[in-house]
Amino acid sequence: MEISELTLLELSGLLNSKQITSVELLNYYLNRVKEYDEDVRAFLEIDAEGATEAAQEWDNKRANGEPVPPFAGIPMAVKGNMADTRMVTDAASQILAGFVSPYEATVLKRLREAGFILFGKLNLDEFAMGSSTENSSHFTTHNPWNLDYSPGGSSGGSTAAVAARMTPFALGSDTGGSIRQPASFCGVTGFKPSYGRVSRYGIISFASTLDQVGPITTSAQDAAIIMNIIGQHDPNDSTSYMPDTEAEYLQGIDAGVEGLRIGVPKEIVDHLAPDVAELFSLTLAKLEDLGCIVEEVELPRLELCIPTYYVVAPAEAAANLARYDGIKYGKRYESESLEELYLKTRTEYLGVEVQRRIMLGNLALSSKEVSGDYYMKAQKVRQVVRQDFEEVFKSYDLIVAPTSPTSPFKLGDKTEDAVSMYYSDLLTLPSSLYGGAAISIPAGFNGDGLPVGVQIMGAVFDDATVLRLAHAYQAITEHHTCIPKDFS
Ligand code: GLN
Repeated sequence: MEISELTLLELSGLLNSKQITSVELLNYYLNRVKEYDEDVRAFLEIDAEGATEAAQEWDNKRANGEPVPPFAGIPMAVKGNMADTRMVTDAASQILAGFVSPYEATVLKRLREAGFILFGKLNLDEFAMGSSTENSSHFTTHNPWNLDYSPGGSSGGSTAAVAARMTPFALGSDTGGSIRQPASFCGVTGFKPSYGRVSRYGIISFASTLDQVGPITTSAQDAAIIMNIIGQHDPNDSTSYMPDTEAEYLQGIDAGVEGLRIGVPKEIVDHLAPDVAELFSLTLAKLEDLGCIVEEVELPRLELCIPTYYVVAPAEAAANLARYDGIKYGKRYESESLEELYLKTRTEYLGVEVQRRIMLGNLALSSKEVSGDYYMKAQKVRQVVRQDFEEVFKSYDLIVAPTSPTSPFKLGDKTEDAVSMYYSDLLTLPSSLYGGAAISIPAGFNGDGLPVGVQIMGAVFDDATVLRLAHAYQAITEHHTCIPKDFS
């Protein structure tokens, strides 16, 4: 088997039985990046030197027979909105050009302590705002399944890198679908944990009540492995959840799914493109083969999730991004006049979509009347959506739907029309708004050979059941093992 086809457990096996060294493994991936990333353009930066040093250290320890953690020496790459202390963390924005963080995000610290080696930062929509990676201020990332197509967004760099096997896994962040939608477009597995499961410390904030970090992998089992490491309480994040018992994501993943009750929202049918609808019905049949009980359920507020999210998220973004004014934080547009300094800093160094969200958000929060009409109303709808889900989860273990209403779209197809771009989040927004876990897993390919994903949503903090069903589905299907032919 080629190294690019191996899971994290298999890679760990090779390293621990000394069939390969960590330096060799790292070089294997660095060479793939050299060979393929000119076309895909997933990577913003590579730290070959720092990664080689770390790999060498693990190799020395192994050679000397010192105890090492099981995954020691496996390379990884992460979305460019996560702070490490060696590479630039600019969230693909000019306002943070050249920023190197003085501290490390908790997720990266945990993974480093578990032996993983960070070697690259990956492209994203500026400040994670977008669904196509076309809002990056650097360049656009391409979909490895067809370079004319978008990899999705905003974690499009992360999912494209995993799809082309330029890294064994990556981290992404998901505010309204940014792990799941690009995972669906790139034919990889993308897991959004329940809100609060993973620390946001050291992640550049977009919308603080929605942002979550999660793994982008080639299987649900690998996602569970990463969750065991990053899915723990962090005192540095006041919204981090503290479970009574240690959360186990991997243990129990093999327990089977017979008798699980699955709800399929009946409201989705009108929104699905024909290729997605067809593959989705095949997925439901597979779930029945696995012994699940699949039934229609009602989520009447599905469509309201878009206007709700596009008030709440911009409002929070406007508050979070206020700090980048050229005085407190961020690159400064030098000027004699203070007013021009503020104005030009924010109009020259922030992209169009980010400016649009700041304006929308500030409007939604402006006067009591306006915020009553928009922000407060959106909060109320969010609460009702939460209740709708809670109601369904009283009778069902999980909810299943496609990840995106459409298969991947061509680069450039939606850039002129913000609202049509927003609509690609229709099916990912609900679980972001209610805060539950959700995963996108590959469900097959459409007539053009492009991947289509299916999404499994769980109740808040029931991350383990989501991973269990995804794993059971992957045990009887092979879509998740497919690699685009030019990259295999
Ligand atoms: N596409 C959504 C947006 O543009 C979601 C982004 C995200 O999850 N970071 O806001």
